[in-house]
Amino acid sequence: MTSVFAPATLPAWDSFDAYLFDIDGTLTRDPSRIHVQAFADCASHVLGRTVTLKGITVHGSTDAAILRDACSMSGVEDEHWRPLEAAIFSRLISVVHERRHLMQITLMPGVEQLLDHLAARGAVLGVATGNLESIGWLKLDLAGLHHRFTFGGFSDRFAVRAEMIAHAAHIARRHTASGASLCVVGDTPFDVSAAHANNIPAIAVATSIYSVEDLRAAGAEWVVSSLADLLPANHSPSPASNLQSTLA
Ligand SMILES: [Mg+2]
Repeated sequence: MTSVFAPATLPAWDSFDAYLFDIDGTLTRDPSRIHVQAFADCASHVLGRTVTLKGITVHGSTDAAILRDACSMSGVEDEHWRPLEAAIFSRLISVVHERRHLMQITLMPGVEQLLDHLAARGAVLGVATGNLESIGWLKLDLAGLHHRFTFGGFSDRFAVRAEMIAHAAHIARRHTASGASLCVVGDTPFDVSAAHANNIPAIAVATSIYSVEDLRAAGAEWVVSSLADLLPANHSPSPASNLQSTLA
């Protein structure tokens, strides 16, 4: 692990007016993979063809992009699946809710303490996720986190993550001020690039498939191995710390 850097050009990580949190791999994990499995089941059922998510980038993607990529990979033509997109998502929402008792959602380390810390500082908290809205809120309900978030940006109308972030940022500023400072928190290079496309800095956390090195290479302003590493009690300027800034 490398040492802590605190360049004067960066504000404190906890000084923003509002935060946009990714869900999967950032706030929570779900080893049951109910959402991903239901995706393939529902697309296959509605389209009458086998649709697989094998080989598809799921982490950091959006539900709309996952469907597009899965259909492409499975050889389903655009003109066949696009008219049925709403039917697929409607079924996906129903099936995930039906299987909610099978989900094994757990919180990532430090999540509740981090949200407590930011709330105590007066920050407005929202989610910005590639999930469909109904599924995103379900996960937060099951995780016991729903009440902590004032607003959410979801992928129902946005296959492109940067556009979902833009929408979430717009909502965040409605809840704060038009000139409010925002920060995205996510676990993939796609969260980082979508934040930067909107001139928003990013805290990247290496709690899913991407390493600290991957996330530093993506250009995140802050990279941590766990959200717990951001908390003041764990924030030590010693060489053992794993809070890093790529702007150092
Ligand atoms: Mg994620």
